Amino acid sequence: MRSVLLPAVQQSWARKRTNGSSDWKKISGTEFLSAVYEVDQSPIGKTSRSIPATYVKIFDEIRKQFAQLPESRIRGYDPSRFSFNTEGGRCEVCAGQGLVKLEMNFLPSSYVLCDGCRGKRFNAQTLTVEFNGRSIGDILEMTIEEAAEFFRPQPRIYHPLQLLVETGLGYLQLGQPSPTLSGGEAQRLKLVSELRAGLARDRYERIRKNRDPKSTLYLLEEPTIGLHMADVQLLLEVLHRLVDEGNSVVVIEHNLDVIAEADYIVDIGPEAGADGGYVVATGTPEEVSINRASRTAPFLARVLGIKNGRSRSAA
Ligand SMILES: [Zn+2]
Repeated sequence: MRSVLLPAVQQSWARKRTNGSSDWKKISGTEFLSAVYEVDQSPIGKTSRSIPATYVKIFDEIRKQFAQLPESRIRGYDPSRFSFNTEGGRCEVCAGQGLVKLEMNFLPSSYVLCDGCRGKRFNAQTLTVEFNGRSIGDILEMTIEEAAEFFRPQPRIYHPLQLLVETGLGYLQLGQPSPTLSGGEAQRLKLVSELRAGLARDRYERIRKNRDPKSTLYLLEEPTIGLHMADVQLLLEVLHRLVDEGNSVVVIEHNLDVIAEADYIVDIGPEAGADGGYVVATGTPEEVSINRASRTAPFLARVLGIKNGRSRSAA
């Protein structure tokens, strides 16, 4: 996917075919796409300065809300006062990290809560400014779900948070350092922030350019690796949502629950590795499940049977 499909789409836009070196013959339909995006499980930030609130770009808006308070105006606090990345408002003991690194000889370094701010990342003066009874430090300690409720009257903050709640990330803290997120959480956060950017782009195209927005192509390689069953269901919901919004999603996957949810399957085999690489079956999950050439078919048939049984009993 990374070495064929991704470059093929990009090269077709650039109209530069690198002769001889490319692994594909022909690609069509890319004129209906506006972007291609590969979503993996890699961390979204390596430092504790990267948090869900900054990743989905609502922290700037929250800081603006704080700077507009009468208390802030009297003291001359602007939005940068409420940043933990710059000097002025942040706790200088931990440089706004909330945690202090303990370096010990012969032992792996560990982190402890900062004494100066008790993990709140800001200095005492900054923390006395309160928005509806909460300091900027309190807000970073809220879960996404609590924050969504708290900021309900502020749509620019509420909507992205609500999207995160709907995709099962409501339990994460707004200020949770990104390196502590699991691969599955990082992946979902990426998909949601992409979904949000996509919605904004759609609106822009419809209003400003008066034309139907193009779709984005999302590529995911075995996104369910390391995920619990419940996380797989949540991932499927985000993927369905991306498709419902008019995007295309291509997933390389062995997980039958994901395969059964696809609109179209390309079954490659018959064996793994060097004994595979051939297209053995294509079609909807129902079509592939009765294809005798496919090794996956009997397993897929069983999952589909369970799924259909479930929907019949639900109906
Ligand atoms: Zn501190």
